[in-house]
Amino acid sequence: MERPGLFADAHASYADSRYVVLGVPFDRTTSFRPGARFGPDSIRQHSWNFETFDLETGVDLADVPIHDLGNAGEFGSAEEMVRSVREEVAPLYADGKIPITLGGDHACAPPCVEAFPAGRPLSVVYLDAHLDFRDSYLGDARSHACSARRIAERVGMENIVVIGVRSASKEEIEAHRKLGLTYISAHEVSREGIDSTVRRALERLRPESIYVSLDIDVVDPAYAGGTGTPEPFGLTSRDIKQVIDTVAPRLVGLDIMEVSPPYDQGNTSALAARLAREAIVRSHLARGQP
Ligand code: MN
Ligand code: MN
Repeated sequence: MERPGLFADAHASYADSRYVVLGVPFDRTTSFRPGARFGPDSIRQHSWNFETFDLETGVDLADVPIHDLGNAGEFGSAEEMVRSVREEVAPLYADGKIPITLGGDHACAPPCVEAFPAGRPLSVVYLDAHLDFRDSYLGDARSHACSARRIAERVGMENIVVIGVRSASKEEIEAHRKLGLTYISAHEVSREGIDSTVRRALERLRPESIYVSLDIDVVDPAYAGGTGTPEPFGLTSRDIKQVIDTVAPRLVGLDIMEVSPPYDQGNTSALAARLAREAIVRSHLARGQP
């Protein structure tokens, strides 16, 4: 019955599903320590840890139409990965699905946003310890250090808010001032509280369709140390749950990136799996059966 190779409870056919899981085992742009290519399968394995029944909402995941496409194929360069992920994800939006993409380093996120139909308004909540706002990093415009920049170029600078930042270069801060990117630092979240932070972020964004890009390093390494570039003074796992719960009714896509299983005992993979399920449960609760 259990198929540990797939995401838990992903029993629906593609045609019947609303939530479609896709893995992107790519970590070639990682700048500190590699391993995020093992993220998708580790997150899937850990997803089987949880009851299908969600105690908080009463939703049973067994009743929610989820499909798992498996992992996107082999890639050489970041450009190849970007092209391939765009081609995988674009039909999902066209078919009315909500893609849940498991990375992989954060370079895998922009193509998931770029695949969204042009002309349809889209806002992005970008959760990250890092600003990821370099125009290019080590000569690579598709580096994971540039992902917020690429996404902002796609959706418009005013349609993305980065939450949880506690690391940026001087050049990134200058670019943020010049180009008008909005970010809310982890220190602000800590002072202000997550509820007020999310409300403030959502007031800035168009409300229709929201895409969430979750770099797991936004969470404090005390909760999620299994990641490529751990950064202290982060958000709690409960803070991220709160963001997902608030945004879920308007969610059109989610990615969870930078889970790097070699660096912990599985707790970061378990958290990522639980947050993916949280997004699915809350979205399903808001929308009802498809
Ligand atoms: Mn990132
Ligand atoms: Mn990061």
